[in-house]
Amino acid sequence: MQVPAAFEYAKATSVDQTLELLAQWGEDARLIAGGHSLIPMMKLRLARPTALIDINDVAELSYIRVEGAELRIGALTRHAELLASPLVEEHYRIFGDAEKVIADPLVRNRGTVGGSLCQADPAEDLSAAFAAVDASAVIQGARGSRTVPLSEFHVGPYETVVEPGELLTEVRVPIRPGGGSAYYKVERRVGDWAVAAAGAAVWLDQDVIKKVGIGLAAVGAEHFRAAEAEAFLTGEPATEASFAEAGRIAAESCNPVADQRGPVDYKRHLAGELTVRALRAATARARGQEA
Ligand SMILES: Cc1cc2nc3c(=O)[nH]c(=O)nc-3n(C[C@H](O)[C@H](O)[C@H](O)COP(=O)(O)OP(=O)(O)OC[C@H]3O[C@@H](n4cnc5c(N)ncnc54)[C@H](O)[C@@H]3O)c2cc1C
Repeated sequence: MQVPAAFEYAKATSVDQTLELLAQWGEDARLIAGGHSLIPMMKLRLARPTALIDINDVAELSYIRVEGAELRIGALTRHAELLASPLVEEHYRIFGDAEKVIADPLVRNRGTVGGSLCQADPAEDLSAAFAAVDASAVIQGARGSRTVPLSEFHVGPYETVVEPGELLTEVRVPIRPGGGSAYYKVERRVGDWAVAAAGAAVWLDQDVIKKVGIGLAAVGAEHFRAAEAEAFLTGEPATEASFAEAGRIAAESCNPVADQRGPVDYKRHLAGELTVRALRAATARARGQEA
């Protein structure tokens, strides 16, 4: 049986109390949200926090709402809540697509948006979906809060810009009417992490791509984003030929590693093909066609 090393434990009920506990216990303390990533790592002794600060009762971090022209999602929002939200479905179908293929209902009932982004697993689906829609992260520390574009949030595998003494409180997504978005993933079996995945968000002007975001998971894309493919597509007609070229660019510019989920060439092929499928579906949705 695998057992974590000894640690202190406290349950916080507010953001202020969480920050006080982080300051009190220092940089070896960790927040615990759903615990689906942290607890297994502790059991394997890959993580050995000296203290756990449980944020599951910090109700002020659990919400999905529209404020001004933004969709705002609290860090403690569960995967299942994101999946069930009519607001999210109305504005960005990419999240429903992604959530349906993240793990299983048990994990989705407990795992959180904040925990997923902060875990920063290279195969994490929500990071790719949020990257495609130009989200930003609100990070709070003792000296106030700062907002970081998601394109700067991840600094490497399992690493983010959240510093010791800080927590992620919210993710903000600009609402841009008239677009469409979609997410596609290949997994070895239902509920598994991605072999590769791609999401796209598209806005059209008379069938020319006015704005596009493309997110990639599990293929080593810089900040989960296919920036070169986005740059190519902007201003191009929304055609199969444009999507194919964007897929080719996305496949070429990502950096997958071979592992038990597949060799590099296969993952690169999937990155291209899934980019094409996500672009096709997002465009159909932007045109108001069912996809
Ligand atoms: C069997 C299984 C299958 C899975 N499959 C997938 C999958 O297909 N796709 C996918 O994307 N994910 C998958 N996951 C991961 C799942 O989405 C987890 O919910 C996620 O990794 C972590 O969320 P959590 O709330 O459990 O975080 P925790 O495990 O509680 O925390 C993870 C890390 O984030 C930190 N943290 C948590 N909240 C905050 C915050 N607000 N501010 C700062 N730091 C914070 C913690 O200190 C810790 O370092 C899977 C997990 C399991 C167990």
